[in-house]
Parts: sequence; C-alpha cells; structure tokens
Amino acid sequence: MSDGRALARAYLEQQRLLGTDAVPLPPAAAPVPVQPESVAPEPKAPATKPVELPPAGLTFDPPARDLFTADPLQQVTTLAGVAELVAPCTRCRLCESRTKTVPGEGPAQARLVCVGEGPGRTEDETGRPFVGQAGELLTKILGAIGLSRDQVYICNVVKCRPPQNRTPLYDEIAACVPYLFRQLELIQPRVILAMGNTAAQTLLDTKQSLGALRGRIHRFRGTPVIVTYHPAALLRNPNWKKPTWDDVRIAHRLLDD
Ligand code: SF4
Repeated sequence: MSDGRALARAYLEQQRLLGTDAVPLPPAAAPVPVQPESVAPEPKAPATKPVELPPAGLTFDPPARDLFTADPLQQVTTLAGVAELVAPCTRCRLCESRTKTVPGEGPAQARLVCVGEGPGRTEDETGRPFVGQAGELLTKILGAIGLSRDQVYICNVVKCRPPQNRTPLYDEIAACVPYLFRQLELIQPRVILAMGNTAAQTLLDTKQSLGALRGRIHRFRGTPVIVTYHPAALLRNPNWKKPTWDDVRIAHRLLDD
C-alpha cells in the first residue's frame, strides 16, 4: 500500500475511534468519473495541524535509589525482579482480597509508559494489566499513534485489585507506590502517560483535579508526564475521546522529539 493510502486509512481509523463523522464524501448527484487504474490519483492524507506543545506544569522529584539501603526493592535491577517482590506482597490490606497481583507488562526499554489506577476484575483474574474492555480501548488509542501494545509498558499505581473496583485509599497508594517508582527508574521512559486522577495525582504529588492537570507538560524525575482520561472513563463518557486524542498526540510528539 502506498504511503498516501496508508495515511488516509490511519486518518479514517482515528476518526472512527473518536466517533467523528465528518468524513467528506462526493455528492451523490455528481459522481466522480472513474479513471483508468494506471492514472487514478492517490488519495491525499488529510492535512493535520501540527501538535503544539502545551506549557510546563508541575515537577515531582522524589528521592531516587539509595545505593546503601537494605531495601530489597532498591536492590533489584530488573522489572521481573520487581514483579517477584510484588507477588507475595502484604504491605497493605488489598492483599487480602486479590486473586493475582498485577505488576505490569511491557518491554524494559519502552519509550512510553502508561500508568492507570489499579487492576479490575479481569486483570485480577489474569494477572495482566488492561485486558478488559478498557484495555481494548487503550490498545486502539496506542494504535492510532502507531504504537502496538507490546512496544509500551503498561501498569497501575496499585498492583492489587481494590474491592468492588473502588478508588485506592491514600495508605494503600503510599504502600504500593515504591514499586511503580522503581519500575519507572528501571525503564527510564521518554514519556509517561498518566491515565486518570489517581495516576496523575500520584505521579505529580498533587491533589489538583484531572481537568486542571490536563494540557500541560509535567515532569516526574525529569521525564515528561502527560495527563489524560482513564480508558474506563472514556467507555462511560465518549465525549472525552476527543480531549484524550489531543493528549495522546502531545505524548506522541514528545516521543518523537
Ligand atoms: S496493593 Fe501493592 S502494597 Fe498493597 S498488597 Fe498489593 S502489591 Fe502490596
């Protein structure tokens, strides 16, 4: 397939994902004459406005690894090592109701890390993050910027499912967040996509709302953090797809910079 056709197809897929129906079609009364295949013009990719980078936002710079600590989490040097520590963890009450821990998955050299809130029912059963309906939507969102799921590291703030999918409590987040911080330390991504209030507020150490945090380039230990809606929220409110697309395009541009 030519580049033009591939771009046009990607554009139409993005429009479908966003629920936009503004795809221009030739009027029925004026059919476009069929041209011989050899001279048929290739469809031009619709002009897309270049993404403008938003202003700088918050910076959170928690202390990094202490080489002299006896903390086993600080001693591990791989994501698998972090997962091994998470598996038997009883640091908070969420261990009592979990089926499986969900440490996260993806390549250790991922350029993009997506952080959600916590595992849901399917994730708790499988031990994998974002495998339900919200996961399918996340896979589509990543596909729209040309990334396959296995190119991205996907994880949550808490690694065990909160009962009835409630929001994790402050002390549960405080107990679990060292795992996330260590994962980010090991991966050293170029961009972090914080999906939803819990991820955004935890990574930026703030109580500001998601609405106030969107549209700025924050920093976690120097790494750009883009805040957007959680895919599960998009399933409930499709009107947030367009702003999510705007956020994801900013993350994409930062990946390429
Ligand atoms: S949520 Fe985190 S801190 Fe709590 S038991 Fe699970 S792994 Fe441990």
